[in-house]
Amino acid sequence: AQTRYASIRDRACVTADGHRIEMLMNAGLMADLPSLESSGAEGVGLFRTELQFLTRNKVPKRGELASLYARVMEAAKGKTVTFRTLDIGSDKVLPYMKSQDEPNPALGWRAIRVGLDKKGVMRMQLQALLRAANGRPLSLMFPFIAQMEEFIAARGHLLREIHRETSLGHALPETLRVGAMLETPSMAFAPRRFFEEADFISIGGNDLKQFFFAADRENERVRRRYDTLNVSFLSLIEQIVARCAETDTPVSFCGEDAGRPVEALCFAAMGLRCLSMRPASIGPVKHILLRSNLAEVREVISAARDAGEQTVRPAVMEYLRTR
Ligand code: PEP
Ligand code: MG
Repeated sequence: AQTRYASIRDRACVTADGHRIEMLMNAGLMADLPSLESSGAEGVGLFRTELQFLTRNKVPKRGELASLYARVMEAAKGKTVTFRTLDIGSDKVLPYMKSQDEPNPALGWRAIRVGLDKKGVMRMQLQALLRAANGRPLSLMFPFIAQMEEFIAARGHLLREIHRETSLGHALPETLRVGAMLETPSMAFAPRRFFEEADFISIGGNDLKQFFFAADRENERVRRRYDTLNVSFLSLIEQIVARCAETDTPVSFCGEDAGRPVEALCFAAMGLRCLSMRPASIGPVKHILLRSNLAEVREVISAARDAGEQTVRPAVMEYLRTR
C-alpha cells in the first residue's frame, strides 16, 4: 500500500479547495518510528506508552523509559512526537496490578483516574519524559480527561516535576506543549477555561464514540452498530471544533476513524485540520483529501442532515461516486 501512494508521500496534504490538513501517525513502539519517513507522516500525533508497562512483570524503571523516549525523539529527527501518559485499566490491564474486579471497567478506574490516585507511577513517567527531552521540545497529553479539574491536577504534577528537575540542575525541555485527550462527551461542554488552559486537544474517537453511543468498543455485538457518520456524532465533532475555535486551541483527531478515508473526509469537512492515524492509512486518506472539495462535502452533509437522514454516509458515498 505504501508504494501505491509513493507519488503523494512527500506532498503536503492540501484539499482541492485549499485547506491544509496535517497528517500525523500513531505509534507505540520504537519499531514504529521508521514509518514516519516511509508514510510521509508529519509527526507522531499519538505515542501510546502502555506497551512498555504491559510487556513486563513489574513497573519499568525511570531510566529505561527515559532512554526509550529519548531514542523515539531522536528517531523522529525534529518532527513532533506527542507522548500520551499511561492509559491503563479497562481493556489494558497490567499483569502486576491488583485486579480491580469492576463491573464496568471501561467506565471504571482507568487512565488519568489511576494516575491521579497512584501518583508515584505518573510522576515517574513524567520525570522520564522530562529527562528524555533534555533540552529538546516536549509534547505530551493526558488521557481520558472527563472534567477540567483532572487536567489542571495532572498538569500540576508535571509542573512540580519540572520544578524538581530544575532544582536538581537537569536541563528542561526547550518548549513544552501540554494537551488533553477529549474522550468523553462531557468535555465538549467543559468550561471555556479548559480550552484556554490546554495547549491542544486530541479527540480520542475510539473512546468518545463508545461513550457517546453507549456501545462497548470491545463488544463484537455492538461495536459496529452505530455509524461514525451518524449525524449525532458528526454534530458532536462539529461542536468540539467550534469550542476549540473560540479559544484558538489546536485540535486533532487520533482515533481509528481518522484512518478511514470517508470518515477522515467528513471530519475535515466538519473543520478538523489535523488527523493522526496508523501509518498505512496516511496514503489512502491523503489521496481522498487531495482531490476533495471540503465546502462541497460540507454541503452534502448539511443537505443530508436537513433531509432528516440518520447517517450522511450514503449521501457522501454518492457524491464521491459522481464527481
Ligand atoms: C481513542 O480512544 O480514540 C484513543 C486514541 O485511545 P485508545 O484507543 O488508546 O483508547
Ligand atoms: Mg482512548
